[in-house]
Amino acid sequence: MNIILMGPPGAGKGTQAKILSERFHIPQISTGDILRMNVREKTTLGLKAKDYMEKGVLVPDDLVVEMVAERLKSRDCAGGFILDGFPRNVAQAEALERTLEKIGKKIDAVVGIEVEERELVRRLSGRRVCRGCGAVYHVTFNPPVNTDTCDNCGVELYQRDDDKEETIRARLRIYEEETRPVIEYYREKGLYRAVGGIGSMDGITENIVKAIEDRRGYTENPG
Ligand code: AMP
Repeated sequence: MNIILMGPPGAGKGTQAKILSERFHIPQISTGDILRMNVREKTTLGLKAKDYMEKGVLVPDDLVVEMVAERLKSRDCAGGFILDGFPRNVAQAEALERTLEKIGKKIDAVVGIEVEERELVRRLSGRRVCRGCGAVYHVTFNPPVNTDTCDNCGVELYQRDDDKEETIRARLRIYEEETRPVIEYYREKGLYRAVGGIGSMDGITENIVKAIEDRRGYTENPG
């Protein structure tokens, strides 16, 4: 099952992709996570991507497309994958289609998580991430037991550079201008389904699963 999870920054793509990844035993491919890892480790890719990410603008397509193409060839993607944060513009969507064609795969469903802008800003500006395990908290809605420390592993929490208010606005603008047209791209192909991103985490997961099943007549336990 090959899935794309879409939605603006702060919609909950990462959280939901993790849950779906465990439920369906397929890897989550988060381009943001892979890029952040490269920046941390100061790889050639990381050094090239860093400035774009700090400004909240898109990293050039050729870098990201190549990175995803390599990842999709890995053996753990044989049974499916969940793309989270890719494609971010129509050129990336077209490149993805060509990549998948070469390896004999196709996208089964594209699910978009919808949340209004005011709520996104509220979520992103309060978001804190664990430096150790990557767990995500919110200072008000999902605070850790001890301020600035991860409940799971005790490592320090930090605020992503691009979760500062000014950068959040830039990211949301880029989403509207560059990423929203991708929805139309997949809608025209009959692949797109939207779900609301406000409510309980479990409820949203169930709606995403229903959207996927609706799109491909898929059941978790076929037979
Ligand atoms: P995210 O964690 O998905 O919010 O991504 C964080 C940042 O990584 C974005 O603001 C971009 O600078 C970069 N990024 C992530 N995915 C992509 C992509 N598909 N294309 C271009 N840049 C990306």
